Amino acid sequence: MHTDLIINGQQIQGQALSFAVINPANESVIAEVASASAGQVNDAVRTALQAFKAWKNVSDDAVKQAFAKIAADIRAEKDEIAQLITLEQGKTIGMAQFEVDAGASWIDYLSGLDIPVETIQEPKGKTIKVYNRPLGVVASVTPWNWPFMIAVWHIFPALKTKNCVINKPSEYTPLSTIKLVEIINRHVPAGVCSIVLGKGEIGQALTEHADVAKVTFTGSTRTGQSILSHSVSSLKSVVLELGGNDAGIVLADADVERTAQGIFASAFLNAGQTCAALKRLYVHESVYEALTEKLVQIANAQVIGDGANPEVTFGPVQNKMQYDKVNALIADAVARGGQVLTASKALPDHGYFIAPALIANVQEGIALVDEEQFGPVLPIIKFNAVDEVLERSNNTQFGLGGSIWSTDLAKAEQIASQMETGTVWINSHSDLSPAAPFGGWKLSGLGYSFGLEGLLLFTHKQAVHISG
Ligand code: NAD
Repeated sequence: MHTDLIINGQQIQGQALSFAVINPANESVIAEVASASAGQVNDAVRTALQAFKAWKNVSDDAVKQAFAKIAADIRAEKDEIAQLITLEQGKTIGMAQFEVDAGASWIDYLSGLDIPVETIQEPKGKTIKVYNRPLGVVASVTPWNWPFMIAVWHIFPALKTKNCVINKPSEYTPLSTIKLVEIINRHVPAGVCSIVLGKGEIGQALTEHADVAKVTFTGSTRTGQSILSHSVSSLKSVVLELGGNDAGIVLADADVERTAQGIFASAFLNAGQTCAALKRLYVHESVYEALTEKLVQIANAQVIGDGANPEVTFGPVQNKMQYDKVNALIADAVARGGQVLTASKALPDHGYFIAPALIANVQEGIALVDEEQFGPVLPIIKFNAVDEVLERSNNTQFGLGGSIWSTDLAKAEQIASQMETGTVWINSHSDLSPAAPFGGWKLSGLGYSFGLEGLLLFTHKQAVHISG
C-alpha cells in the first residue's frame, strides 16, 4: 500500500504532520499518512508547470495510447484497487468493483472524444479557426464518498485536454487515489500528474496557488465557496460540484414495484453518501402505502456489516463526523414526530454502522428534510397535488438533481421542465453518463463536468484569424 506523495513522477514522503486513515467498518487505523508541506505543494506546481511545456504539445494519439494503457492496468489491478476502496471508504466490495470498472470505462469514453476545432469562413477569403487550448496546471480536490471515481472524473478530462494536474484527495480516503496516480505515472511523463496529501489547508494551499490555472472541486458547498473566494486574485477558472438535496416525486401512476427498487438503489447508494442521491421522497397519497411497504421490505432485508465480506449488502458510513451527523438528524426527526418505519437491527459494536432508515410523518421545516443528510436515512412525505409538490421540491437552496417516477413519460417530461435542477431523471435517479453535462444549479455548483461541454471547460478558446 502506497502512502507517499507523487511529485514529478517520484514517490516522496510528506514533510509535515501525519494523519491516520481509519477503516470505517471497525475503526482500526489502516495507515499513517504524512501530509505534504507548503514547500512540497509548491514543488508539485512548479514541476507541473515545467512538464506542461512538453505535454501541451503531445499528440492526440499519444494521449489515447497512454489512456488505453492506464485503463488496462486499472482493469488488471481491479481487485487490489477495489479492496483499497472498501478498506478506506466502507462500501461493499461489489460496489467498489463497480467503482473501478466505471472509472476504467470513463477513461475509455474520454479517450474516444475529439477536441473540436471550429472553422469560420469570413467574406474576402478570411478564415478564422477557433481552437480549444490547454490552460496549464489544474488543481483537483476530491471528497471521500467515491474517492477513485471522482478522481478519474477530475484527472482524465484535464489530461485529455493536455493540461497537467495535481490531485489532493480527501484525508479520509487517500489510498485508492494514490494507487490511481501511481498507475497514471507509469504511462505519462514526470510532472504531468501529481498527488499531494493532507487536510483542508493543503487543499487550500494548492487551489489558491498563483500558478494554478483551474480548480476542479467536488465536495461541500462551504468548501466550494471558500475555494471560489480564494481564486479571485488570479482569476482562475473554477468548476464546483457541491452538495444537493434531491427530491424524488412519485406520481399516482408509478409502477410501485419498479419504483421502490429504483428509489432504494438511489437513496441508499453507497449508504446514502452520494451527491446526487435521492434525499427527499414525495409520494402521491394513492400509492403511498404500497410504496412505503415495499421500501421497508427492501431496507429490512439488507445485510449490514463490513463491506469486505461479500455477503454484506450495506456498509458503514465513512467517518465519525458523518455518523454523528446522520444519527443526530434521525434523533431530531423522531423528536419532532417522525416515525421510523424500518426495523431496528443489531449492529456491530465497532464501526460507523447505521441501518437504512425510512422516516415518515415529517415535513419541510425540520433538518432531515431541509438539509443534505448524506447518509442512510430517507424522509418520506405524502402529497396530493403535483403543482404543490413541485413548489415544495424547488423550495431549497440546492439544485443538483431531482426525479419523477411515472408511467406517463410525457407528463413526467413536462414536470421535469419545471424542476430547478441541473439533472432530472425519469424513473431512475443518480445514474450518470460521461456523455451528458452534470452540474448543480443554485448552491449545488458552478459550471459543469462531463460531456464535451464539461471537457471544454478545461480549455481556453483561441481564435486564429487567417488572412491570405
Ligand atoms: P469537504 O468539502 O469537507 O471536503 C472535500 C475536499 O476538500 C477534501 O479533500 C478536503 O480536504 C478539501 N478541503 C477542505 N477544506 C478545504 C479548503 N479550504 N480549500 C481547499 N480544499 C479543502 O466535503 P466532504 O465532506 O469530503 O464531501 C461531502 C460533500 O461533498 C457533500 O456535501 C456532498 O454532497 C458533496 N459531493 C458533491 C458531489 C457532486 O458532484 N456535486 C460529489 C460528491 C460529493
